[in-house]
Amino acid sequence: MSLSALSVMVVEDHGFQRRMALRLLAELGVTDVHQAADGAGALSQLDGLDRIPDVVMVDLDMPGMDGIEFIGHVAQRRLARAVVVVSALDAALLNTVQTMAHAYGLRVLGSVEKPLTLDKLAVALEDYVHGPHDDVADEPMEISASTIREALAANEITPWYQPQVEFANARVVGVEALARWVRADGHVVPPTHFIGLLEREGLLEALTDHMLVQACRDKRRWDEQGLHLTLSVNVSPTSLTLNSAADRYQRLVEAEGVDPADVILEITESSVMADAARGLGVMARLRLKGFGLSIDDFGTGWSSLAQLSQVPFTELKIDQGFVSGAHKQPRKRAVVEASLDLARKLDLKVVAEGVESIEDWRMLAELGCGIAQGTLISRPVPAALVPDVVAHWRRPGA
Ligand code: C2E
Ligand code: MG
Ligand code: MG
Repeated sequence: MSLSALSVMVVEDHGFQRRMALRLLAELGVTDVHQAADGAGALSQLDGLDRIPDVVMVDLDMPGMDGIEFIGHVAQRRLARAVVVVSALDAALLNTVQTMAHAYGLRVLGSVEKPLTLDKLAVALEDYVHGPHDDVADEPMEISASTIREALAANEITPWYQPQVEFANARVVGVEALARWVRADGHVVPPTHFIGLLEREGLLEALTDHMLVQACRDKRRWDEQGLHLTLSVNVSPTSLTLNSAADRYQRLVEAEGVDPADVILEITESSVMADAARGLGVMARLRLKGFGLSIDDFGTGWSSLAQLSQVPFTELKIDQGFVSGAHKQPRKRAVVEASLDLARKLDLKVVAEGVESIEDWRMLAELGCGIAQGTLISRPVPAALVPDVVAHWRRPGA
């Protein structure tokens, strides 16, 4: 896709600045352009469009419906693929809005400080055109409970793998297993579209078991080729409230001939603290059996340091929201530095998630981060492609 093929909507209350944005878009060759002077007008236009725009450029500070409320609507109803925040407001607030949009699952191309210039706009839009896209269907879709139940039973949900690389020697040392629903028609559906449904249907435990077993089988195949990788598997929060979980995971993994010490269970920070007392017991038992325990999405869950220090974690994964772009955003970098510092003090390995650029790689390496995961190295790929990805990976800049 080229810039000229983009469809863009400009939402800006200020007439002069709106015209300026339209002129810059024209200079960049973008011809499919919509405009609105306020959030309500933009929403009603979006509702009527046959094809949702690629990018919505939105001013935050508008009378009536402000940009923040507007982005919330766009994200929840999936009325655009990505958003560029254009604002004269301070960096901390722009950051908050980015995080919010990201949490809603909307792609944020960045925030552009006013005044808008050709360069700034080009950078943001180029990111859309050339930036990382998952090879997955991200169209909104209706999935019924029975459909997802059948998909799970038919083994249509399988792990894809994203490599993890050590900064020190640039070697691929592990992979994270990420659920993908590969439909009969070839469409690949990302987990964000079906995890919530599985949870409501009480099927998350079944998913975890399935992912663990499949990942162990794939690992054994790689082992046979001389490729030794640790496996990181996401564990559903509800598992941590079941006393049986620790024994079951051990049984499943060992039945496939894998040592629990080669398996790292990722638990999101928010879920850890939901039922702290019970969760602690299960996690302690998992550690006793040799599993690694990782705090996933670190920095997004508001847990206190005291709580974190009580859990027998072995690894901390800094959330991608703080990692990607950290080299040029001091506030993100501050969170990364603080996370690294905490991990050092608690003697935890650190994985930086969402490493997308060489600049971020260099900064993280300098700060002493242990492991990188992100599209700079590879997107998640099917098991059969993992050996190939490992063989072709080179240290950036080498
Ligand atoms: P997560 O565990 O934090 O996984 C990382 C997500 O970030 C993955 O999205 C991955 O594709 C994406 N990612 C990694 N590096 C980059 C990067 O450089 N740039 C960008 N833009 N994205 C990157 P995915 O596969 O869509 O998974 C989303 C979430 O779904 C996971 O977040 C995890 O919470 C959940 N999930 C995935 N598989 C399972 C599973 O088997 N069981 C459970 N319970 N949850 C799962
Ligand atoms: Mg994870
Ligand atoms: Mg994560």
